[in-house]
Amino acid sequence: MANCVFCKIVAGEIPSKKIYEDESVLAFYDIEPQAPVHFLVIPKDHIENAGCVTSQNSKLIAHIFEIISKLADELKLKSFRVVTNSGTDAGQTVFHLHFHMLAGGVLGAMA
Ligand code: AMP
Repeated sequence: MANCVFCKIVAGEIPSKKIYEDESVLAFYDIEPQAPVHFLVIPKDHIENAGCVTSQNSKLIAHIFEIISKLADELKLKSFRVVTNSGTDAGQTVFHLHFHMLAGGVLGAMA
């Protein structure tokens, strides 16, 4: 999607520190980490947010959670938090569905 920063990362037009990629999913480190380990897992296809998940694309969401589990295992993250902000009032600033993966220390009570 034009003017979507994460679509540009998927297309290689903006650099990112990738940690995982397959045909439908990309994971890369957050540019402004909020925890010792903070990366984002996104679908390559543009989906605006969690409010746009339907029976047509929900398999992709299940796949994303498989990747989250695999990366947690590979990076030896025993405790982690997965967050997705959906909508401006929830704090969403990039309107391309993404799951924040936060770990690497004792996290506060809320994301
Ligand atoms: P949210 O506020 O939930 O929409 O999260 C958007 C996240 O994207 C923030 O944590 C930003 O730091 C992160 N972000 C924005 N631009 C980039 C970028 N070019 N590379 C990596 N992370 C980014």
